[in-house]
Formats: sequence, structure tokens, C-alpha cells
Amino acid sequence: MKSSRLFTGAARPSPLFRSSRILPSLFGPAGVLLPLVLFWACSVNPYKATNKSYKSQAGRLARIIDEHPLTTGTDSVPPAPYWVGTVNFNLRKPNFVIIHHTAQNSCPQTLKTFTDTTTKVSAHYVICKDGTIHHMLNDYLRAWQAGKSKWGNITDINSISIGIELDNNGFEAFPDAQINSLLHLLTTLKTSYGIPAANFIGHGDIAPTRKNDPNYLFPWKELSDKGFGLWYPDTTGVSIPDGFSSLTALRIVGYDIKDSSAAALAFKRHFEQDTLRSWGGPEEKILYTLFRAYE
Ligand SMILES: [Zn+2]
Repeated sequence: MKSSRLFTGAARPSPLFRSSRILPSLFGPAGVLLPLVLFWACSVNPYKATNKSYKSQAGRLARIIDEHPLTTGTDSVPPAPYWVGTVNFNLRKPNFVIIHHTAQNSCPQTLKTFTDTTTKVSAHYVICKDGTIHHMLNDYLRAWQAGKSKWGNITDINSISIGIELDNNGFEAFPDAQINSLLHLLTTLKTSYGIPAANFIGHGDIAPTRKNDPNYLFPWKELSDKGFGLWYPDTTGVSIPDGFSSLTALRIVGYDIKDSSAAALAFKRHFEQDTLRSWGGPEEKILYTLFRAYE
């Protein structure tokens, strides 16, 4: 409903405000009741039920981590006479950040999608256009964001990465407020987990045949300037040596080259903000420069 519809016929005050007897009683001598009522209305969390489910799922996983003594998983080897737990350990840390666009029309729509068990998709963070960050899943837990994907020889990207979804329908620019929040978040993640610059990549990079997010308007260069993701210097003077193979270089950078044209397109979208299916000198120079950084 458009907000203007809410005010249709607003010339007539509501019964509440027509009653001069009710108004003073609402505001009261201290004038605190109405603000309290408004505060209560705003603080009711519509996700109370799914939050309860989150807590019980996290509790179940915590009990798995707490299991001891541990078994070998097979009874065909001699059992140890007693269990010995090491005393030197901590939690595994994410080593990649995967950036997405939601391909949905609003933040509330995405929050709904990620709290519906039938969708089987989630992310650690959702960043709205106004810069609001929803931290939906503990960084140490595995979100269902990457799907079937590959980077280098890594095939279970969900197990080693943080997923960040940006509210964006796939065809629009990313507002400054949203990118500023993203940069703040990336700084925290990079510092907390020691994530290398090269490991900040997009969903389209790791699933080139299925995904194109974040869309071609995403400011990868700006991110790289701040230390998130690789970029390349001016390539005017670059000369490509004989025998250089673009396909091999794409694979070394990390792309899955099973579908070579999908990999090339993903590369162009990321590093040239280009969605055209063509490959020539400029792309080769950029790829060669990046390939040298990965060698
Ligand atoms: Zn995605």
C-alpha cells in the first residue's frame, strides 16, 4: 500500500484523538504513557519464532563440538586404551569473504527468505541500501550462500567463507551508505580472521555458470584500494609473453574453467565492469598482470 493511501480521509481525526477525555489520560501528568506504548510497538520483534529456532539449532551444534571422548569413526582399528584430548586448540576461522547481491526487491524480503526453512539459503550478513547491517549468523557457523561453486581447488566454499548479501535487485548501483557499511564490516572481518586481500571475491567468480552477483556495477576497484580483493595497475605498457595461455591464467587466478566462456565473462564483469562476451588485448593484459600477482 502506498503511504499516501494511509492518509486518505485524514481530514477527520480518528476517534481516539477526537475525545478530549482520552487525550489527557494518554499523555498523563508525566506525559510518558504514549512514548512507552510507541516504544513497545517498535520493539516487538517479528522474528521471535525463527530466532528461537536459531538458538536451538546453535545449541545442537554446540553439543556436537562438546562431544568427548571422540571416536575414530571406524571399529576396524585397535581402540585406544583411554581418551586423550589435546589442550591446544581454538575455533576454525573463515578465510574467504563472498559478496553477493540479493536479487530481491527489498531488505525485508531477503530477511524473510533467509528465515524460511523451505528456501535453504542464508548468509552471515545482509546489508540494506541505507547501510543497516543485519548479522544473521555467527561467523563461525556455516551459511548456505555459495551453493555449488569452486575457486582453485576449493569445492566447499561455504565451509571456509563468510557470505555478505547486499540488498540489490541485480540491475542497480550500490548506494554510498551501503558500500560504507560494507567497508566497515570488511575491515572488521579482515582484522579478526586475517583474511588475505585476494580472498575477497564475488559469488559470480566462484559460480560463473550460475551466478552474476554482485552485478557489474559493484565497485571492486574501490574495495581493492581499501585492501579487499586484488586489482591491477595501468596496463598500457604491458606486453604479453609468447605462450601465455589465458585459460591457464584464469585457472591459476582461481576461476573454474570447465566452461571457459563463463569464466571469461565472470572475469570481465569483475575486473572491467563489462558484460560483453568478447575477449581481446585489454583483457589479456589485465589477466596477465593479475596472474603475475597469483604466481
Ligand atoms: Zn549470490
